[in-house]
Amino acid sequence: MDQNIEKIKKILEESKDIVLVSGSEVAKEAGLNGLRAEHMVYDIEAKYGYSGEEIVTSQIYSRQVALFFDYYKDVILNREEPLDTTVFDVAAKLEKYGKLKNIVTRMVYDFYQRAGCENVVELYGSVEENRCPVCGKIFDSHYIKKAKGTPKCDACQVILRPGFSLFGELIDNARLTRAVDAIEGAGVLLVVGISLNSQAWQTMLRYYEGDKLILINTEEKNGDERANYCVYGNIADIFKEITDFEFKEEDRIAAEKERKKAREEAKAKEKAKKEAEEKKKAGAQKNE
Ligand SMILES: [Zn+2]
Repeated sequence: MDQNIEKIKKILEESKDIVLVSGSEVAKEAGLNGLRAEHMVYDIEAKYGYSGEEIVTSQIYSRQVALFFDYYKDVILNREEPLDTTVFDVAAKLEKYGKLKNIVTRMVYDFYQRAGCENVVELYGSVEENRCPVCGKIFDSHYIKKAKGTPKCDACQVILRPGFSLFGELIDNARLTRAVDAIEGAGVLLVVGISLNSQAWQTMLRYYEGDKLILINTEEKNGDERANYCVYGNIADIFKEITDFEFKEEDRIAAEKERKKAREEAKAKEKAKKEAEEKKKAGAQKNE
């Protein structure tokens, strides 16, 4: 067996502050094309006259919206269910047992959440959060897929905005901050399905100061030497191998307690905010 696998297994078994950074190869392995669909670039250009990278831009969205949504429906939403859920299930298990703190993903599909993960930062947004630019109503991928022609808000009849960032647009600042905070706080950085050479990630990974950067990818790429441990192959298979250790019931109970506490704190904060707003409103009315 790969020596690195044994080392990684031991690191994960002992850790309680893993942050998972998940890239486009994960979606591809699960059978989804992603936004760019680089692996079918010739077919895409032949059919649409542009590459995926050119289509998912504000130029095409604003000037050729029908083409944009054809591509969205047929290429980005090429299937509803992942071919294999191992990676997402393993992540959910690690989170459930208090080992995984955060997931930062550039995947626009919600497979981690569907597997039960709670702390997911979707850096580029999601196909599940298409928005009406007028009333703000959110529409999921199913709504896009089954729309006849260009999908519109069912209340305003206005064309929807996609739930993900278009290429060339800035990443949402709140998401970026959450991602950087997560990476900065990581003990173990488990990077999956990403080329470390891509500029977006280079900037992001600079915030990690530890010495346990683990890279798992389908194949070796330039720049991988920046990782402390690398393993290549089928990502789902590797995930099974590196988490093939005993998960302790006491860890699960402790993690559940912590999650409950965090949920309650968030709820209390939300309530306090609402009350403050109402008070302010009542005060304003009094003064009228
Ligand atoms: Zn609307």
